[in-house]
Amino acid sequence: MSNQTEQYDVIIVGGGMVGASFACALADSQLKIALVENVQAPTWTQADHDLRVSAITQASECFLRNIGVWEGIVARRISPFREMHVWDGSGSGVIHFDSAHIGEATLGHIIENSVIQLAALERLAEMKNVHYIAPVEAAAMNVEDDRVVLSLSDGRILEAKLIVGADGSRSWVRQQANIDVKGWSYHQKAVVTTVKTAIYHNETAWQRFLPDGPLAFLPLTDGYSSIVWSATTQRADALLALNDVDFMAELKSAFDGKLGDIESVSARGAFPLKLQHATRYVGERTVLIGDAAHTVHPLAGQGVNLGFMDAAALAEVLIDATEKYKTSHVDFAAHRVLRRYERWRKTDTLATLAAMDLFKRLFGHRSPAVCWARNTGLTLTHQAEPIKNIIMRHTMGLSGDLPALAKPSYVNKVAV
Ligand SMILES: Cc1cc2nc3c(=O)[nH]c(=O)nc-3n(C[C@H](O)[C@H](O)[C@H](O)COP(=O)(O)OP(=O)(O)OC[C@H]3O[C@@H](n4cnc5c(N)ncnc54)[C@H](O)[C@@H]3O)c2cc1C
Repeated sequence: MSNQTEQYDVIIVGGGMVGASFACALADSQLKIALVENVQAPTWTQADHDLRVSAITQASECFLRNIGVWEGIVARRISPFREMHVWDGSGSGVIHFDSAHIGEATLGHIIENSVIQLAALERLAEMKNVHYIAPVEAAAMNVEDDRVVLSLSDGRILEAKLIVGADGSRSWVRQQANIDVKGWSYHQKAVVTTVKTAIYHNETAWQRFLPDGPLAFLPLTDGYSSIVWSATTQRADALLALNDVDFMAELKSAFDGKLGDIESVSARGAFPLKLQHATRYVGERTVLIGDAAHTVHPLAGQGVNLGFMDAAALAEVLIDATEKYKTSHVDFAAHRVLRRYERWRKTDTLATLAAMDLFKRLFGHRSPAVCWARNTGLTLTHQAEPIKNIIMRHTMGLSGDLPALAKPSYVNKVAV
């Protein structure tokens, strides 16, 4: 323990998937970075799949390639999905997406969260300008005119021009900066587990919309699937309380037996679901990225993808500002510089938040009229190839104002 103040340009609080990848995105900058994380790095083994997985879009894949993290992911484990099959549990509506229809090899990949985080930390260890400090808690934060001072739970004091809150949906940094959030609880939990099914998933992401919430089977390696089953809190608690045999039977029935018997099931976990949006992404010498800025329903697997785009956009804005600093001497952490990031990312995020909330409500509706309209809409969209292709490109993260780091042309692609 030392009371000597350590000097940095940027302090990132939170070394989860978004915070760690944001640090990687600053690899080629002249910025000296501290990444503070309060828990040990996750463990990962070949033997078991992590309970937490994410559907990663092509735009996020480009970002992870461009920042040197993708190789570490591929070296561990990765599972492509080429098709997506979505259907309404209360009717006949169905929609099917196939990457081949738009000339793409995949719609995305299912990747374990711990794999992404470990690959990012591995990349960070090669970087000379990043100091990873863990496990230690960010304990007190004081913003002054020209700097921010952060005290850590082990007594260390860090000083920087900018602090980045990448510390998740209950962000401590956000609270210290007095940034409010708007949103609501869905009064739902997502039950997660890993199963082996009798019928191969065929590299397809399956999702059935039930009145209680969506049930997704996401394809993993060796014929396993990751389950994300959103249901009312009461129903989710009941599912968690079932023994394995009863849970597998319940799961098969809720999924309409689409992939046959459930042959094995791992431990189960659950996460309360909410929609949350920070009223501002920036404060004085403070910026929020990832779940610290926004939390969405997992039904379309967009949460961490939004976070990666935040990381890519903020890195671009900061690197641009440090380049300009050489001639104009504009502080790279000045409020107007940070506002550029906020304006850029808020538009994209608000559109995604609204779309996810609309889907959640639409599919939760039990009225026969809404049910009919929903099923008819699904079927008509399924038949309208051009509309489907637009939706596919959006789901793959390929629409909108993408940061340079999320574009394929940034560096040569490394084949998977
Ligand atoms: C069931 C479920 C399924 C999902 N599926 C998908 C999907 O398929 N695709 C997708 O894009 N998204 C998905 N999401 C969303 C995704 O998981 C989140 O968006 C993502 O984990 C957010 O990452 P983050 O790094 O911003 O925050 P977090 O993962 O919450 O990381 C924050 C980090 O900050 C650290 N921290 C917190 N406070 C402090 C402190 N005071 N000091 C130091 N460190 C601190 C924490 O230890 C943690 O490591 C899903 C979410 C759920 C619940």
